[in-house]
Amino acid sequence: MNYISYYRYERFNRCPKLLYYDKLLPRKGDRDLRNAMVGSVVHTIVEDYLSDKVERKDLFNHIWPVFSHMESNNTVVWRGRNDRSNVLSSIRPMLSNTLELFDEHEIYPTADLSSGESILTEWSFRNSNQNVGLRLGGRIDILKRYADGTYQIFDLKCTTRPNVVYDPDQIQIYALALLFDKKNVRDPVGYYLLPYEQRSQPVPFSEHEFSVLMANMLDACESIDTLPLEDYAKPGYHCSYCDYYKICPDRSTSRKKMKRVPVVDLDLED
Ligand code: SF4
Repeated sequence: MNYISYYRYERFNRCPKLLYYDKLLPRKGDRDLRNAMVGSVVHTIVEDYLSDKVERKDLFNHIWPVFSHMESNNTVVWRGRNDRSNVLSSIRPMLSNTLELFDEHEIYPTADLSSGESILTEWSFRNSNQNVGLRLGGRIDILKRYADGTYQIFDLKCTTRPNVVYDPDQIQIYALALLFDKKNVRDPVGYYLLPYEQRSQPVPFSEHEFSVLMANMLDACESIDTLPLEDYAKPGYHCSYCDYYKICPDRSTSRKKMKRVPVVDLDLED
């Protein structure tokens, strides 16, 4: 049975050599920790909110316990006196915009939804289909179950990196995993919530798209298993934010300083 996750599939398509480095040097890359940290804090707060651990009116104060938790398990080290407040200035508007998008799509803690609806967060799956010969693994940020038994997927993209193009394959792979699990999905199967742009991006599906995707994933599985990945570098603009930029001899040399996308600041205090 071929196993793949969206993470591996996306990395393979971007540059197969990334998977070689991932295996050789786990956690040794030059990660953009600040960007990852903003996303991680927003995701944690959102998860606590949707699972009824914190009320909406207390969300902004909840940033501090999340910081403290990250400090205590060493997932963040502050760089200087103003570092905390700089990170905070990215997180607050990101959080505000996320809540605006939640209102638009009626994503609330289950107690606040209509009867029969529910929200699952960080839903992990490992679902397979024997006929296709494929097992999919991953984790869905937010899964909404409607009263009619159908599901919709929401993925929260917290990056402020420019030129990030949403990849419909991600939500379609998640939808396939739901279908493998005999769950019904709606059309569109899901949405990207893009707080930095304060908008959402729908991802539709068709049987044809799913067939193509499954065939591509099976091809990727075979290549990952058989090719010497270190010889298959695919340099490009994406090298600019590659974890292994400093050590990869194949990297694109046109690395440019990236500008952050301004985050729209909203006042959600009321
Ligand atoms: S620096 Fe570029 S070529 Fe090298 S592994 Fe990263 S993405 Fe691939």
